[in-house]
Amino acid sequence: MSAESTESEVVILDDGVPTAARVYDVMLDGKDHYEIDRQVANASLEVMPELKEIAAHNRAILHRVVTHLAAEEGVTQFLDLGSGLPTARNTHEVAQEANPDAKVVYVDIDPIVLAHGRALLQDNDNTRVITADLRNPREVLDHPEVNAMIDFSKPVCVMLVGILHHLLDEEDPAGIVRTLRDAVAPGSYFFITNFTRLSDSPESAQLEEVLLSQLGTGRVRTPAELAAYFEGMELLPPGIVPLPLWRPDTIVTDATTIGVRFMTGGVARKN
Ligand code: SAM
Repeated sequence: MSAESTESEVVILDDGVPTAARVYDVMLDGKDHYEIDRQVANASLEVMPELKEIAAHNRAILHRVVTHLAAEEGVTQFLDLGSGLPTARNTHEVAQEANPDAKVVYVDIDPIVLAHGRALLQDNDNTRVITADLRNPREVLDHPEVNAMIDFSKPVCVMLVGILHHLLDEEDPAGIVRTLRDAVAPGSYFFITNFTRLSDSPESAQLEEVLLSQLGTGRVRTPAELAAYFEGMELLPPGIVPLPLWRPDTIVTDATTIGVRFMTGGVARKN
């Protein structure tokens, strides 16, 4: 996949390979995807029809967490890793609503994100988008454009929202989180959401099979594996929970459904 942008438009070149960013765009009813991405999305939806609802829960918790951290905890810097294609209410819009001076850097491996992000952000001095691979966290931490915007001697919110399941076990996602945790200042926050392997849901394991075979990534990990990402940090209440249950602003009437429980997440502070 490659992308080219001019001042007025973004041209995406299709090489017939699905990407996580574009499959997620299908789930969010966006328009930046191809037939090959729709095929993966449809195969996933066949196994778990709630996936569009789940994607919406993932965006909704992002809005609640970023608002909370910017408005209540005084966080002024956000490093959004695996940020995805721009969609409704992006991190910079939510953070800068609470604090117009908040700085946001979007990082994604997929060049389509950079192409769309540049077009969207050309007038925003406090926001950048870069292409980098989280599997090499030092590349991200040392990137000149990241350092032009983020002061790592001060607290930062590191966002790993819906991305760590796109790293394989041998790529050591927990080790990557540790590298990031050790690099940031005390008082920093980690905001992480993930697919969750549920013992009472064969669909959660079946979805992993579909994603690994058709997309090449999509590990659905156990609650214990996901808890390890937060090791050495202090979880904010209510802890690691199904996404709609993290400080909901509307009542969740039925918390037993797969749509509510398949993705879990939390926010932790490095002390
Ligand atoms: N964070 C956004 C959200 O939750 O709404 C988007 C999540 S999307 C499901 C996952 C994103 O992670 C995709 O845009 C994909 O390109 C990106 N990604 C996957 N592997 C990556 C890697 N190794 N480095 C950086 N980004 C990666």
